Amino acid sequence: VPTSRLDKLLANLGYASRREIQLLARNGRIRLDGAPLPRADERIALTPDLEARLVVDGEPLDPLPGFALMVNKPLGVTCSHKEAGPLVYELLPARWRRRDPAISTVGRLDKETSGLLLMTDDGALLHRIISPNRHVPKLYRARLARPLTGGEGALFASGTLMLEGEDKPLAPAELEVVEPREALLRVHEGRYHQVRRMFAAAGNHVEALHREAVGDLRMPSDLAPGEVRRLTEADRAAIF
Ligand code: URA
Repeated sequence: VPTSRLDKLLANLGYASRREIQLLARNGRIRLDGAPLPRADERIALTPDLEARLVVDGEPLDPLPGFALMVNKPLGVTCSHKEAGPLVYELLPARWRRRDPAISTVGRLDKETSGLLLMTDDGALLHRIISPNRHVPKLYRARLARPLTGGEGALFASGTLMLEGEDKPLAPAELEVVEPREALLRVHEGRYHQVRRMFAAAGNHVEALHREAVGDLRMPSDLAPGEVRRLTEADRAAIF
C-alpha cells in the first residue's frame, strides 16, 4: 500500500498549503478513526478505507487520487479552457479544482452538446477510454432540422463515409430512428464534431445533441443537468 505524508496528501487534494495543514493538525482538526492526528509530517497509508476514516474539520476525506466522475453536462458549458463561457470544471467543488493530479475531462463534448461527460484524475483510465484502438461506443440522441429520408442508416453503417477534410472513412456507426426528426446514433470513434458532421454529410442539420451513454454506462435518470456523481466500480466496469 502506498503511503504519503499527511500534509502532502491534503495539500495535493487542494485543502490548503502544507503549512496551513500542519496548523490544522496541531489544532486537532484532522482525525483518524476519531482520534486527533497532531503531526502532519507523519506518513499515512493510502488504503481505500482512508476516505471514511480520515476526517478534516468534521468532513470525511475527499476522494483519494485515481477516481472518476460523471457529469450531466448542461448546454452552454465548455470542456476547453480555450473557449469562452463557463467551464465544466466550475461544476466541481472549488477544492477539487486545486487537486494534483488534476481532474480532466475524458474527451470532450461541444459547448452546445449536453449529456454524459466523464472526468478523472486517473491517466490510465483516461487513456483506456479515449484510445482510438479501444472503440468505446458512445450513444447520442440527435434532434434534426429536417425529417430523416431513410438512407442515413445504411450510409452511417457503411464504413465508407468520408467527412470533409479527412482522409480516412468513418468506422461503421449504428442509427436508430426514433421519430422523423429524432434519432439515436452509436459511434465508435471520437472525431471532431463527429455526429454533427455525419448528419451534415447526410444533408441534414443537428439542432440538439445529447450524449446518453459511454460504453454501457448510461446517464442516470436522476442526475440533473450540472450535477456531478462519483463513478462506482460497477459504473467503471460498464464502460468497457
Ligand atoms: N459529436 C459532436 O458533433 N459533438 C459532440 O459534442 C459529440 C459528438
